[in-house]
Parts: sequence; C-alpha cells; structure tokens
Amino acid sequence: MPANEDARLEALFEYGILDTPDDPAFNDLARIAATLCDAPVAFINLIDRDRQWTKASFGMARQTVPRNYSICTQVIAQSDDVFAVTDLAADDRFADHPIVTQSPHMRFYAAAPVVTGDGHALGTICVIGSEERTSLEPEHAEALRAVARQIMALIELQRERTALNEANARLKTLVARLEEVSRRKTEIISDVSHEFRTPLTTILGYAELIQDESLEPTEVHEFAGDIVRDVGRLTRMMENVLDIERLEAGASRINTTTIDLVDLITKEVARWKSDDDTKHRINVVADASLPTICADHDRILQVVSNLLANAVKYSPDGGEINVAMSAGCATPEFRVEVQDHGIGIGPDSHGRIFERFARTAEAIRHGIRGTGLGLAICRQIIEGHGGRIGVESKIGEGSTFWFTLPIERARPFNPKPE
Ligand code: ADP
Repeated sequence: MPANEDARLEALFEYGILDTPDDPAFNDLARIAATLCDAPVAFINLIDRDRQWTKASFGMARQTVPRNYSICTQVIAQSDDVFAVTDLAADDRFADHPIVTQSPHMRFYAAAPVVTGDGHALGTICVIGSEERTSLEPEHAEALRAVARQIMALIELQRERTALNEANARLKTLVARLEEVSRRKTEIISDVSHEFRTPLTTILGYAELIQDESLEPTEVHEFAGDIVRDVGRLTRMMENVLDIERLEAGASRINTTTIDLVDLITKEVARWKSDDDTKHRINVVADASLPTICADHDRILQVVSNLLANAVKYSPDGGEINVAMSAGCATPEFRVEVQDHGIGIGPDSHGRIFERFARTAEAIRHGIRGTGLGLAICRQIIEGHGGRIGVESKIGEGSTFWFTLPIERARPFNPKPE
C-alpha cells in the first residue's frame, strides 16, 4: 500500500474517472505506449480501494481484477518512477501470477505511475509482452514517463471540462431564473400601474363632470361620492404597498392583547353582511367554548377582513361563504377557515399566491381587479404570530383559506414578581 493511501484514494475519487465509459483518447495513449515500447499489449490501469480498473487498453480487452492480483498496485506502492520486470516467470513476486502461469503467459512488464500534481499515483501506464527481455531500454522508460504525463494531463483536462460544463449549466439556470424574475417584474409593474391608473381615470372623469355647471346638486353629490370611494381605494392600495414593505422588513411591531377571536370574527362578518350589496350568504360556525388567544387585534382583524373580502370578490353574487372556527385536538392551535364557492385556484398557484403581487391567471381571466398584496400581508401577520396559513382549492369549485394561531399564547400573562 502507498503510505498516503487515504489521500491517494480521495484524489482518485475526486477526479471522477473510475467507471467512466470507453474513451478513444485514452485508448490512443495506450496504443502509443505499446508502439513506442515495442510491446503487443498496453493498459492504463487505475488502482481503486479493492480493485484495479482499466481505463484503456491496446492489444487486450479492458478488464477489472481484484487489487491483490494487480501488478500495477505494487508499482505505485514501491516506486515513483518507471518499474520493470524483465522476466516475470523468474521473479518470485510474480512467477505465480495468473497472467504468467495462464494464457497469455506474459513475461515482460514495464510501467510508469500516473501521478497527480500533488504526488498521488492514481494508477499506471503499463506495457506487457510474452517474451522476456534482458533490460528495459532507456528510451522505452522515457516513452513510458512521457505517456504517463500525457495521461495525467488528459485526466486533468477532462476534470476541468466537467467543472466548466457544470458551471455553464448552473449559469444557464441562473440566467433563466433572472430572465423570469425580470419578466415577472415587468408584468407586476404593468398590472399594478393598471390598478392605480383605473381609479385615477375614474376620479378625473367625475371631477370633469362636476366642473359642468349645469349639473343638479344631487348629481354633484353622487359623483363626489364616487370620487371619495375611488380615493379611498387608492389610499388602501398605497397603504398595502407600504404595509408589506414594513412587514417583510420586520419593521412592524405586533401589539398583543388577549382577544376573543369568535367575537372579532362574528362582528366582522356582521359588518360584511350589512355592507355587501352582492348579497352573499355568510354563515359562521364555531366550536363550543373556544379559548381566547393572545394576538394583535387589529392585525388579525386585517387578516379576517382580507379573507372575507376575497371570498366575496372571487365568488358569484349571492354565493355561500362559510366561516368555521375550531381548536385543534392534536396541536394546541386555533383554526379559522373561510370557504367560498367561487372561481377557485389551480394547484400550481396554491403556494405562490401568498407571495406579494402574485395573482392567478383565473382571477385575471375573470377580469377581477386586485394587486396581489392582501394574502402576502396575511401571511406575514399570521407567521409573525407563530401561526400558519394556507389554502385548499380547485378551479371552478371554490376555495377554503385557513389560518391557525397558537393557543399557548392565550395563557394569561402573569409575570411573577422577582
Ligand atoms: P388581490 O385579491 O388584490 O389580487 P390577494 O393577495 O388577496 O390580492 O390575492 C392574491 C391572488 O389570489 C388573487 O389575485 C387571486 O388570484 C387569488 N385569490 C385570493 N383569494 C381567492 C379566492 N377566495 N378565490 C379565488 N382566488 C383567490
């Protein structure tokens, strides 16, 4: 065994050359070695942990033999230069070797180690012949050294080529991802500016109408109301943009108090029922004696309101919306579900819609307006409370948005005096 066997094996594995396919470039080098040394057979052998594996050969088929049969193993263990046995049959170390005792009855062997820049011998280039020789000619030894150097250079070159190919593939993936990000950014800018432009255009239209002095006071009043509504809408959109920035930057504090979530949700549903002129039927069911929880009242209200607004917006007028509240049995958590029977969401979008500006093709196809910010805000709020948020949905069948909040936080906060 070479003294630095572990490091040698590590170097060999790192080149990734073992068990690679037949390669004409290496076969040519084996042929050159055989021709230069006037030998009928040549092998490029690599010495693995337990076997000798042939990378290339000339004059005989490639073969794998156990390491204890390998003469080349002895070369890399005993010599860092050319090693020759002029008559294998007359040498005690090799006389019993099957390559000598059986066909092809080899007698002459010479090899040069294939050595890395760090001095690790990965294997050899060896030439063998069926007739003994008196000595190894110096020019044959020189030829073996030169071919061994060329084999090492080729191994290095192939490793560099593989690394280059891998880097190239990574680069291509990165470029594709960047292109996708850039395309998405352009799409977002166009969608969002459209969302902002629409109310502005309406405001301008109504303002121009009001300028018309022939309008009745009731009409002026009506148009002013429309302007106020659209300005409110613009303000909310601006607030959402700023809100998601603050939440994602962690710059928004959660002010927790003990809250009765059933009460909060029931009141919010009642408000929606009285405001909603699309006449959705909103039902609320809650498990008996649900605990209070510790959370930021306004932030949770914002989540509930957002999910209700979406359920109304993305389902047909008069549709049924069910809000359910329960406490987990397996885990101590409060669970809220908002189910609608609207346009639904395809499986590819289930995770994506919680990212900012993400909108589904389905929503766009139905011409339903939005900025794709509400759910991103909801996720930040819920995760900021240590909860989870998600959706189950099928296109055309409706969606169930759910979120959980940990109940541990509901325990009354009773700091013990120190
Ligand atoms: P917005 O509704 O303003 O676009 P949201 O962040 O609230 O923004 O929602 C992101 C996207 O998720 C929506 O654009 C829509 O495509 C989809 N979505 C949200 N809620 C529903 C729902 N209840 N039914 C179907 N699609 C929904």
